Amino acid sequence: MAQYNPYDNFLKVLDDAAKAIGMKEEDYALIKYPERELKVSVPVRMDDGKIRVFEGYRVQHSTSRGPCKGGIRYHQDVNVDEVKALAAWMSFKCAVVNIPYGGAKGAIKVNPSTLSKGELERLTRRYTAMIFPIIGPEKDIPAPDVGTNAQVMDWIMDTYSMTSGYTVHGVVTGKSLEVGGSLGRPEATGRGIMIVTLKMLEKNNLAPKDVRISIQGMGNVGATAAKLLYEKGCKIVAVSDVSGGLYNADGLDIPKIYAFVKSKNLLKDYKDKDAEHVDNKGVLTCPCDILIPAALENQITADIARDVKCKMVIEAANGPTTVDADKILAERNITVLPDILSNAGGVVVSYCEWVQNLQSLTWDENDVNNTLYKVMSRAFDDVYNIAKEHKLSYRLAAYAVAIERICTAKKKRGLFP
Ligand code: GLU
Repeated sequence: MAQYNPYDNFLKVLDDAAKAIGMKEEDYALIKYPERELKVSVPVRMDDGKIRVFEGYRVQHSTSRGPCKGGIRYHQDVNVDEVKALAAWMSFKCAVVNIPYGGAKGAIKVNPSTLSKGELERLTRRYTAMIFPIIGPEKDIPAPDVGTNAQVMDWIMDTYSMTSGYTVHGVVTGKSLEVGGSLGRPEATGRGIMIVTLKMLEKNNLAPKDVRISIQGMGNVGATAAKLLYEKGCKIVAVSDVSGGLYNADGLDIPKIYAFVKSKNLLKDYKDKDAEHVDNKGVLTCPCDILIPAALENQITADIARDVKCKMVIEAANGPTTVDADKILAERNITVLPDILSNAGGVVVSYCEWVQNLQSLTWDENDVNNTLYKVMSRAFDDVYNIAKEHKLSYRLAAYAVAIERICTAKKKRGLFP
């Protein structure tokens, strides 16, 4: 079997969507290529005194609609094709929700849980210094992603500021509140998932209490989505983390599980007679109405797609469904709400944070959440309407909206020189 390449996945969907709305190759050819790819070798003095060199990247896919925007991932399996795909998905995501950004992504090939706090800080600061020439509040604004958090963002902000000679809050989003972070940012992606899920239910004349949901991934996104959807009355029947999953056909005790994972516990150690332990596949293929993959790419493969028992997939992770799997889901009449729409809540509130930083303002949480709601529902309606008008899947419709917006911006700006 050919090795899974997420960038090929991106290109395939791009072609399909462009064709579906009658675009010629030459009209969108430029967005097939990232504008800039930077690879850095990051030396770090480890606690034992030895020096280790880590592989790092920052890929900038597009600046047509504004400065680049996108997270930084720390994961032992990252490679350049994955970072390229994640960067392109960011351009598309920002275009779908219509915020004035292009897309980028960064990564370091490391398992952060194997480093001490000091090692992690030195790695982050040295990486920041090495990508310094291409980032900045007007150029490219990083944010958290898998394996990074507010503390890592605070170090990036401080390193950039120390190097610049003054404090630059707007260089990175997802920071701690005390150093220019925004209220509502940690929950934003999960809250966005809740918003689009409720919109989908409304379109299908379903009430939250009528649906059973299974969520793969109890990181920040999955755990917040589980908590908020549970509070809205949905039945969460299955959840998982890297160690395994839990299942109860009548619904799990989410507040208890949420508190358990927030205290840095693994689900394999969770004890409750009302929660049956299942494996990762058990969570993906259990009987439910909505499946929410909230972990990594390439989780719903063709094999899994043949086995899922849901009616709808809402993608909280980036790129969780392979192209082959997507086809099988469509044949089985399973609706997919694509990542570039459903998980955009994080970058929307990153935008709110950046706007606050640039204006030296602090918004209250209601203002942030109201903006998030407004932007997500507008994007949902835009995609929904295009899907209905052109009889497209939501994925192709979301790509179509994004391609159209990015290419129009490119065309109006013209080609330099
Ligand atoms: N890493 C998140 C994403 O994939 C957030 C990016 C951002 O806030 O810039 O959407």
